[in-house]
Amino acid sequence: MEQDIAALVNEIDNHQEELLEILSKLVAFPTPAPPGRNSDDAQAYIVDFLKKNGFDIDQWDLYKHDSIVVGTKNSVESSQYHSLILNGHMDVSSIQEDEKWQTNPFEMVVKQGKAFGRGVADMKGAIAAMLMAIKVLNDANVSLPGELKFESVIGEESGEAGTWDAIKHGHKADFAIVGDISDFHIQGQGGVITGWITVKSDQTFHDATRRQMMNAGGHLRGASAIEKMTKIITGLNELERDWAVNKSYPGVAPGSDTINPAVIEGGRNAAFIADECRLWVTVHFYPNEDYQEVIKEVEDHINRVAQADVWLKDRMPIYKWGGKSMVEDRGEIFPALDLDTQSTPVSILKNAHQVVVNEAPIVDVSPSVTDGGWFGHANIPAAIYGPGTIDEAHTVDESVEISDLVKYTKVLVQFMYEWLNTKKEV
Ligand SMILES: [Zn+2]
Repeated sequence: MEQDIAALVNEIDNHQEELLEILSKLVAFPTPAPPGRNSDDAQAYIVDFLKKNGFDIDQWDLYKHDSIVVGTKNSVESSQYHSLILNGHMDVSSIQEDEKWQTNPFEMVVKQGKAFGRGVADMKGAIAAMLMAIKVLNDANVSLPGELKFESVIGEESGEAGTWDAIKHGHKADFAIVGDISDFHIQGQGGVITGWITVKSDQTFHDATRRQMMNAGGHLRGASAIEKMTKIITGLNELERDWAVNKSYPGVAPGSDTINPAVIEGGRNAAFIADECRLWVTVHFYPNEDYQEVIKEVEDHINRVAQADVWLKDRMPIYKWGGKSMVEDRGEIFPALDLDTQSTPVSILKNAHQVVVNEAPIVDVSPSVTDGGWFGHANIPAAIYGPGTIDEAHTVDESVEISDLVKYTKVLVQFMYEWLNTKKEV
């Protein structure tokens, strides 16, 4: 069988046209997010493809016209063998009106060894390769006793947790590959959480009272929420500096754990003392940190800052962390993924890459965030491993090397064969 699988992997070169056909179909479904709510046809295509390859389908709406599809294929022996999730997001990054594409972004074009179109790199190319790998193995009747799941999720580009929802629906495995862009590096990732910090006065004062609340003998204990927010911003700066000095993670640039005061809103109009001020912050953290601990660190520190203020101590800041979506409720969470570089599945993946590419893969940390973090949060071992580079994605004339997609298909076939044929450790 070892020889057979080597032959099958080599033979994937002959499937390049078929692979591009799948990709061009996927690109032709316009699924940009935002706005989202546009993936029904694309997901129907996936359902049909998976059914033809022997998968059972679980499909449900995350939002109307944005469903999650999980296909599962198992055997009578599945419980004894390792299981696998292949995960990809069907949404693509949005297109601005002034973007000058040379071609229609939703009509794939092949030129000089590259495919062009929205999403070819991020990440319909990887999805096409995953489907191709599934079909090649199915057509050749290769026995894969371990349970295989293919997930087509939505919402990744706008911070919507499609992958988390799939986990909540009970779809778990011994290992997951998130095929988002990694240029064939095997990666974990740091995490990101956004939050709102609100300073709110219990009273609303007219602008004319400012003299009394600012000056000797005024006897009015009031304050501008905007001015008090400056103390909180200073506190966040100090915490950010402390993290930069004292926290680190191998392979990540020191000081990557930033706290960005990204958006500020506040005040009614110029006739009032500002009675409310809201700050939207973006907090980055390392792969080995959980977002709930990070939130606690920020709150504990800012609460101490507030307690040391004569006015804030009685009107403590209000926190609201995360959210379903940057679109729906202006918040998002991408948990971290701490890659276990010594684990069995990662070793098998490294080996599969080595067999196909003839060199050892780079193992490091993604500079971006992907759905990989949800597997980390759920303690499902996972790796980010996909074709394409960050430079190729989210750009005008997005492109991907066709040879990379073929290579990726080969590594997947090699990996699935080995991993799904390995018995669980007892
Ligand atoms: Zn992506």
